[in-house]
Amino acid sequence: MTMIDDINVLYSILFFLWLQYLWELYLEIRQYRVCQHTKDVPQELRGVMNKDIFDKARSYSIDKSSFGFVKSAVSIITSTFIIYTGLLAKVWNYSQSNSPWEGEVATSCIWLFILTTLSSVLDLPFSIYYTFVLEEKYGFNKQTATFFTLDKIKAYILSQSLTLPICSIIILIVKYGGEYFFVWLWITVGVILMVLLTIYPSYIAPLFDKYTPLPEGELRTNIEKLASELKFPLDQLYVVEGSKRSAHSNAYFYGLFAKRIVLFDTLLAKPESGGCENDEVLAVLSHELGHWKHSHITKRLIIMQTNLLLVFLVFAFMFRYPPIYQAVGFPTKLQPVLVGLLVVMQYIMVPYNELLSFLLTCLSRYFEFQADKFATKLKKAEPLQRALIQLNKDNLGFPVYDSLYSAWHHSHPPLLQRLDALKTKQD
Ligand SMILES: [Zn+2]
Repeated sequence: MTMIDDINVLYSILFFLWLQYLWELYLEIRQYRVCQHTKDVPQELRGVMNKDIFDKARSYSIDKSSFGFVKSAVSIITSTFIIYTGLLAKVWNYSQSNSPWEGEVATSCIWLFILTTLSSVLDLPFSIYYTFVLEEKYGFNKQTATFFTLDKIKAYILSQSLTLPICSIIILIVKYGGEYFFVWLWITVGVILMVLLTIYPSYIAPLFDKYTPLPEGELRTNIEKLASELKFPLDQLYVVEGSKRSAHSNAYFYGLFAKRIVLFDTLLAKPESGGCENDEVLAVLSHELGHWKHSHITKRLIIMQTNLLLVFLVFAFMFRYPPIYQAVGFPTKLQPVLVGLLVVMQYIMVPYNELLSFLLTCLSRYFEFQADKFATKLKKAEPLQRALIQLNKDNLGFPVYDSLYSAWHHSHPPLLQRLDALKTKQD
């Protein structure tokens, strides 16, 4: 009976993973064909985008798709290999026999350390190719080999030093938390996430990029004026030196308690080398302040926390069910907490995760329109349109999309839809 069960679980896992892969592949192919066949600047974009930039954006988009095809094929083959060969269980045995300490926590930490290290190593060639070949080809890459290496090392050390203690706490709560452990688990993980979100801008982000306060001047004065008109508690106004990393430009608003606005230095660059004029930057900021006015960060956080409770509930129902461990190669009696969590969250919940991510993408587009509407109310629709066009040019966004691909993937509405909405609202 158990054998049939765990084979069923194994094939369900593989079925869902492949279904997800094929669905995303189908969407990618649809978009790829749109890029291949759209050789002329569409009517509605003439005057907005010249042929040279359009061609370059098209070829950039095709190259990114091709890269994506290879990367996701390697990823699905690796996952299938890991599940089918019982690699998770083999690494577990190795970790257990080589652990200098007794107990599940120690073995789990070694197990996780080995797996995450392997995954970082496997990802490295892709990351190198993406940065130094693909982005380089279109003039976006600004990283030196030293910057890239240091960046990767820092990210690796940081992620290990956060993951290992957090996972140890999770294991202890599941093992000793009693019948309602999932409630403790939810509260603890929720608190940890809040702490990380709070310390991120001041302590974590500066490890990777240089943040400097926006210097005094016309732009700063205008931004402060706008913030005080809206009663926005502008605690921190920073420029991030994104130009050390890439030529892509952006601006964002961050903060639960302390409010922080961050502008990319590339956004502020001189018009001849890309970047936006002051009134355009101000329009982008009005959009960002729209996110604050509508409490988008808080709303998103509430959704994520509700989701987390649901995930832990599902885990609580399933984690004593032996076939989920046997399906990935573990013997009957061995049911490590972390393995159960991985199998439930990463494999069994694939259909749910896909659906959730789609709904969040839709919600995010809705939020973007809301923020644009807010900027329109502040009479910033016209400079915002100019800014969006400029940003799209600077980032070489290909403006023509397959509708299904766009609905599934775009957290921000495509350029044309945003321009359209801004024009209508303005009239
Ligand atoms: Zn936005």
